Amino acid sequence: MRIGFGNDIHKLEFGKPLILGGVEIPSEFGAVGHSDADALFHAVTDAILGALALGDIGSHFSDEDERWKDADSLIFLKESVRLMKENDFQIENVDSIISLEKPKLRPYSEKMRENLARELDVEITQISIKAKTGEGLDAIGTSRAIKAEACILLRKS
Ligand SMILES: [Zn+2]
Repeated sequence: MRIGFGNDIHKLEFGKPLILGGVEIPSEFGAVGHSDADALFHAVTDAILGALALGDIGSHFSDEDERWKDADSLIFLKESVRLMKENDFQIENVDSIISLEKPKLRPYSEKMRENLARELDVEITQISIKAKTGEGLDAIGTSRAIKAEACILLRKS
């Protein structure tokens, strides 16, 4: 067994798209980043790379590389899954937290779980996505940022 932890934070800006777990979520504010700024996919990618002790998302996909400008974060996730399989590991389970003041994510969490389950080659019951707010405090609570954290357990295939 190997455990991995990943997190990611992005600034929010008015009028930008908000993409989480591959789902475009209707929102006044969206995440700003070099790629499509999908914080959940980035945190999960980082957790998988961490469990494999293969660096982090930035060492594989530099934000100074023009190839990843506005890139679909699915590319990063797929590469981490490829490395996981190459190293003979599979996902046991994923637990994650998305911290965002608004909108409420509950209507979209099943679709995000489905997307992750498909990409990670597991059942939806192996994927947990929890949503929290910042209770009006800090950058999350004042809708200036979105954060995602993911904890992943891998086992040898
Ligand atoms: Zn990110």
